[in-house]
Amino acid sequence: MGNKVCLVIVDGLRNDTARTDCGYLMSAVEAKQARIWTMQACLPTISAPLYETIHTGLKPADHGLLSNEAIRPSPHPNVFSVLKAAGKTTGVVGHSFFHTLYAGSDFNVFDHVEVNDPNAPISHARYYTMTGYNQANPTMPSEFDLCAQAWALARDYAPDYLLLHTSSCDTLGHFYTGEGREYRIQATHVDNALSQLIPRLRSSGYDVLVTADHGMNADGQHAGDEPCLREVPFIAFSDQIRVKNDALLDQRTIAPTILAMLDLPAPTTMNIPASL
Ligand SMILES: [Zn+2]
Repeated sequence: MGNKVCLVIVDGLRNDTARTDCGYLMSAVEAKQARIWTMQACLPTISAPLYETIHTGLKPADHGLLSNEAIRPSPHPNVFSVLKAAGKTTGVVGHSFFHTLYAGSDFNVFDHVEVNDPNAPISHARYYTMTGYNQANPTMPSEFDLCAQAWALARDYAPDYLLLHTSSCDTLGHFYTGEGREYRIQATHVDNALSQLIPRLRSSGYDVLVTADHGMNADGQHAGDEPCLREVPFIAFSDQIRVKNDALLDQRTIAPTILAMLDLPAPTTMNIPASL
């Protein structure tokens, strides 16, 4: 117990795509450096509601954020607020939605693209927006840039909890569907970049968890209740998680699991046990 924890959210990565196209991650599973489970995402299978689920341990019907268009500062105890109260530090490389949810102010890209403030709700952050994304130029920023930024935060500040969130699989899935070659190839690009990040994090005392908020369907959409939307991978580079291989994990367990890995008690609102 007591390692630092990095959570990687690969936005929109289907469970089956992770298993067939993420050769680095699956090589780690085959070599017993990591384990993989199928996790069931909550409903609706929409990003902001599930970012909130992942960090509060509450399903959207309980935390109340049911649409990306309704995003607001989280009113619930969450991984970031619990760590802050315990005097621990956090870091984010991810979409600006995470600032809106957990950083205590409205997001302004010129004010918040880079945050280094030990007193802030999230101590160290590098945010991106989706401004300018389109089908002709769908994959910026580079996965290697994001992984390198995450590594720089870990190397320079060693936050106790580090979140890396990448949007490119979701973006390509919307453009080319969850069954298109462009979507699957992007999953391999993400996997390839993670092959450079995860060993560095492991060598620096991080346990690493890799998951998705939701999957992607054949229409290039997500929100509903199909296996390709609700089944996401949960991959752990950690000796702390010992649940059986064939267990179907509940997405609400991620928050209490991260806190348990950091030796922090879960708040009573997280009324689902950790997946340990
Ligand atoms: Zn999406």
